[in-house]
Amino acid sequence: MNKTIALVAHDNRKKDLAEWVTFNAGSLIKNKMVCTGTTGKMIEKILKEKSETKKNIKIKKLKSGPLGGDQQLGAMIAEGKIDIIIFFWDPMEPQPHDVDVKALLRIAVLYNIPIANNRSTADFIISSNLFSDEYKPIIKDYSNYLSRNII
Ligand code: PGA
Repeated sequence: MNKTIALVAHDNRKKDLAEWVTFNAGSLIKNKMVCTGTTGKMIEKILKEKSETKKNIKIKKLKSGPLGGDQQLGAMIAEGKIDIIIFFWDPMEPQPHDVDVKALLRIAVLYNIPIANNRSTADFIISSNLFSDEYKPIIKDYSNYLSRNII
């Protein structure tokens, strides 16, 4: 069962993500990947170096995070196009696009998307049976909210 996995890392966490991707290259390559721009370039380089079947690596590169990439990813989540998010955000430095980061985390929770914000959670996700099985997250029913009387 192929999934679409979003991978994003802030600059101070890119090394962590690079190590995690290198270790898990074999499992990741079987899936589609979506990344913010700079993270995507880094991951593509790692996976191309690791893989003999370079043409099978499917990575969609969005804009760089601070230039709108996080918001593009948020839109993809709202459209049901993302199955898993690996998002290593920086807990020590404020980011120019902190509001976009918050929005991305919020929309991921709203749509009940599995999201790893550190390596141990990413390890749990990638080693779960559900990583290769079909899994449809249950999304809360918002019909009351949608049919509320505004005027
Ligand atoms: P980047 O963006 O992959 O372009 O560095 C990451 C982010 O800050 O969301």
